[in-house]
Amino acid sequence: MSSVVVRLQENVPGKYYVTSACNGCGICFSYALQNFMYSNDSSYYYVYQQPADPREEEDIRRAIEVCPMNCIRDDGEIL
Ligand code: SF4
Repeated sequence: MSSVVVRLQENVPGKYYVTSACNGCGICFSYALQNFMYSNDSSYYYVYQQPADPREEEDIRRAIEVCPMNCIRDDGEIL
């Protein structure tokens, strides 16, 4: 098994994304329902929608803080 961490293909384009280090715990989804979605087998989550407003951005920032795998990333690009 590869230990290389990559940006999951399912992430929508934009500055926030989930990497292959995700363990599928779902905590991000509970913090930002509008922005995360689970894979078909629920083994990982990905960014389904970039934040549409400051409140959603705040939700994602919180999800980043609590993600146990530190796998939600912000590449800093403009949306
Ligand atoms: S909180 Fe992190 S590890 Fe858990 S499902 Fe979300 S992205 Fe994956």
